[in-house]
Amino acid sequence: TNTGILRYAQNDTAQRFFSNLLSLPQGHPMPKVRVRFAPSPTGYVHVGNARTALFNWLFARHHGGVFALRIEDTDVERSKEEYERQLLEDLRWFGLDWDEGPDKGGPYGPYRQSERRALYSEYAAKLIAQGDAYYCFCSAEQLEAERQEELKAGRQPRYSGRCRKLDAEEAARRKTAGEPAAVRLKILESSFFWNDLVHGPTVFSSEVIGDPILVRSEGNPAYNYAVVIDDHQMEITHVIRGDDHISNTPRQLAVYRALGWEPPEFAHLSTILGADRTRLSKRHGATSMESFREMGILPEALRNYLALLGWSPADGKTEILSPSELVAQFSLDHITKSPAVFDNDKLHWLNRHY
Ligand code: GLU
Repeated sequence: TNTGILRYAQNDTAQRFFSNLLSLPQGHPMPKVRVRFAPSPTGYVHVGNARTALFNWLFARHHGGVFALRIEDTDVERSKEEYERQLLEDLRWFGLDWDEGPDKGGPYGPYRQSERRALYSEYAAKLIAQGDAYYCFCSAEQLEAERQEELKAGRQPRYSGRCRKLDAEEAARRKTAGEPAAVRLKILESSFFWNDLVHGPTVFSSEVIGDPILVRSEGNPAYNYAVVIDDHQMEITHVIRGDDHISNTPRQLAVYRALGWEPPEFAHLSTILGADRTRLSKRHGATSMESFREMGILPEALRNYLALLGWSPADGKTEILSPSELVAQFSLDHITKSPAVFDNDKLHWLNRHY
């Protein structure tokens, strides 16, 4: 069928594109796509997150890959079971099914970060032992005072690296004696580079990055650390997420480097703006999945609408795409890096169609 040929052609192009990128010999099969949606259960699912989930799902389904759901609940104070329940319900209503996740398990589980603490401690210990991380005894007050100093001097605040200079044995003794200590990564590189699948070649100078915290003094792993351990261990091939995470990527690349792991591909999706061109938020009215459902928006309409928020099919003009057309045509090549403006009228127009 035409769709069959189209799908084959797109797969072929995609394979060539990725094998060039990974410098694999031509004709080498693309590694099986594994992507994840990794929400934090700290509130109701916002359209921005729904679009991230949708793009990951479309990419996985287009390539016959795996879509995993991972719950990032290391922020114990803000994470709630109720939000996790609602999240799963919203995704099901939205029509996205996952192959691995907290409710169904899978070969790389557990799929809740709160249940993966042993893994985070293990690698933190390894990084300290190999000299790539160190204990930091600076108190919150000390750090805040330093921050204020930097701001006053008109500099971008970053950790001074005071505890990096401590003798490792002495630091280990203090830690064993019960002194509260965070674990920090030593940033050794002067800059970070990756070829973003949406933004193209991206470079960050380390000057803006202090040694990042991997594990906080009370034992909670930091997002930038846990995410790397999990993405690597779950064999994620493509990290597709909002561009609010672009500045986190260099910190994550530093963790990959320290552990000697190959980073995945990164694709950072543009910000969604309201009609007034400011970041879409509650001020703009309904932005949670739940509120759209209550408003009578159909999941097919929302899926079609959100797919077009930053992506367009190869012909650049088709607006009505059935679920199977979306899967057949989806490709990271046609994602725009400019911010997408949320258009309620268009959503309602699509809803009337469905
Ligand atoms: N928990 C993060 C978030 O919800 C995940 C970001 C990522 O995909 O790496 O923003």
